[in-house]
Parts: sequence; C-alpha cells; structure tokens
Amino acid sequence: MLHAHQIRGLLNLFQSVHALRGPTTPTTHDHHDTTHPSTTPTPTTHTQPTTPTKSNHHPFPPPTPANHSHPHHHAEQSPPQVLQNRLKRYYMGVNKFAPNSALSLEFGWLDIKYRRWLEMARFWNRLCDMDDAKWPKKLVKWDISLKTSGWSDQLSQVLDYGCLNNDLSEFAKVDLDELEKQLLVNNERKWLLEAHSKSKLRTYIQLYDNKTARDIVKSNLSRPIRSIVTKLRIGVLPLHLETGRWKDTPLEYRFCRVCDDDLLESELHFLMQCDALKNERSDMYRELLNRSEFEIEGNEIDQMKVLLCKPYLKITGKHLLNMFERRREILYEEQQIDLINNEGTNECNL
Ligand SMILES: [Zn+2]
Repeated sequence: MLHAHQIRGLLNLFQSVHALRGPTTPTTHDHHDTTHPSTTPTPTTHTQPTTPTKSNHHPFPPPTPANHSHPHHHAEQSPPQVLQNRLKRYYMGVNKFAPNSALSLEFGWLDIKYRRWLEMARFWNRLCDMDDAKWPKKLVKWDISLKTSGWSDQLSQVLDYGCLNNDLSEFAKVDLDELEKQLLVNNERKWLLEAHSKSKLRTYIQLYDNKTARDIVKSNLSRPIRSIVTKLRIGVLPLHLETGRWKDTPLEYRFCRVCDDDLLESELHFLMQCDALKNERSDMYRELLNRSEFEIEGNEIDQMKVLLCKPYLKITGKHLLNMFERRREILYEEQQIDLINNEGTNECNL
C-alpha cells in the first residue's frame, strides 16, 4: 500500500511529465492573475452551473473583494503571450504603443493561458478513452478522490469557467468546441474591459462591433494599407491627438495644425472632417461610389464603420495613405514658412 506522500510524489511526477508533453496546468500565478475562473465575471447569457460535490473541498478561497482582482490591473505576461502579442503587432504593422487589448479584439485569438486550459481539456478527453489499468488514468482517479488542489481540481475550475459540467467523477468527455467558444467569450470580455479603461481607445470602442472586428486581419491588404487602417482604428496613427500624448500636451491644445478650424485632431477629424484634406477625401468617395452597393448614412462614427469594413478597406486604406501624405506635406510647408518667418524676425532683431 502506498503512503500519502508517495501518492503525492507520483502525482507531481505525472504533472511534470504532462507539462513536458506540452499542455501545462494553470499555475499559482494563473490563480492570482486577473482572469482566474473564480474571479472573472461569467457570461451573462449563461447561468453559472452550481459547483457539484467539490464545493466543500474547494482548495481556493471564494472570491472576496480582497482577492477579486481588478480587470484594469495588468499582470505580467508570460513569455509565450509576449511573443503572441509581438506577432500581432508585426502583422498589423504597428509599434509597441499599440494597445494589446485592441489588437487582441482585432485578432480574436485566445490568450495563451486559455489555450493551455483548452489543452488540459483535450488531455482529459484522451484520459476518458484510456483503459482503467493505465497509470495516467489511475493517478488522475487518485487525484480526483483526494479532493485537493491538484490537476483535476484545476481542470474542474477550467470547466466551471467555461460553464460546462465540472463533475469529473463520471469521466465524461468535454465538448471542446463549446469550451473554446466559452473561453473566447470570456477572453473577449476581458479585452473589452481593458479597452474601456484606455482613453486612447475611445474611438475604437465606438467603432468596435464583433461582426467586423476581424475584417482587417481577414482582408488581403498590402502591408502599408493594413498598417494605416489599423493605426487609425486603434488610435495610434500619429495625429496630434496621439503625438500630444507623448509630449504631455493638454487634450484641449491637441488641435489640428493642418486646417485652421482649431478642432481636436482626432481620427474622426482626420478621416471625416479636416477641411485641408477635402480633395483627397472627395477622391476616396468618388471611387467608393463607383461600387454599386456602397451606401453611407448615419452619424460620422457610423460612416467611419462603413469606410473601415471589409468590402471597402482596400479603397479607404489607399486614400488614407494619400491623405496622410498630403497632411505631411502641409505640415512640412508650414514648418518651412515658420522657419523663414523666424529667420526674418531674427534678422530684424540684429
Ligand atoms: Zn484639420
């Protein structure tokens, strides 16, 4: 007969082997992270299933205000997550100032942590098919019977988080598609909460709708076009609204220097309003109106949504490049005039 410490040793060994094979279980770090199952709101469309048999033996304390982590708190990201974020930025042609939450919403990829959880469930399904005499299954059965914070308890929490039946005693297979869907719903909610907390994403939040969120990623765009439409959408195009942030210019002074209207140079102003770019804008509309299905109505945000949706991204992007180039030329000319004027003043002073 094996002693308790020997069983624990075997389980640890089993977990280490499992970790080496790829999927890793949620770690203690995961538990304290912002999105732990027990601390993250569940989807409103689903009623949370009541936790079965294990509720009396739950290894973690129930969520309390003290351990209920704030969604705006940024936990340190794991190296694979950092790499995934870097890949997204590279593909979209944006720099490191691009908010990860907006990029995640654009891609709709599960965060690495949730992928790991999905792998746990996949491994569980393999265990369900396994012969009872095999060691991995014996160990997991032991783990379940111990009712402590082991691998099976973590899996149970993952299933709970995915609003699935988390009673493992029956060795019933998990619907992986459903779990993935639920994890994505929760993941998306986390990104949206983060996006809402960033002033930079004020326009993005208004433009966001989950039907068109993946349009840029899914469209076959050239790199410069993909980059400029993404920058405009997620608020990192170097307009005065954004560059003023780098120089701590108060919001009310970040007006457009291209036209003389003293208006905030926001993404909306640049694309829809700036008078100095009206010729380039007219060219864009002329080309778009050649498309018989093109219709634009509603307020300016609604119109921006249309301009930045899949069928028109290529045309809008091409003209955005022209508009941005024209803006650069105007600013350059103004800078030259300022320089000449300053030289004139300096000469007068001499
Ligand atoms: Zn302007």
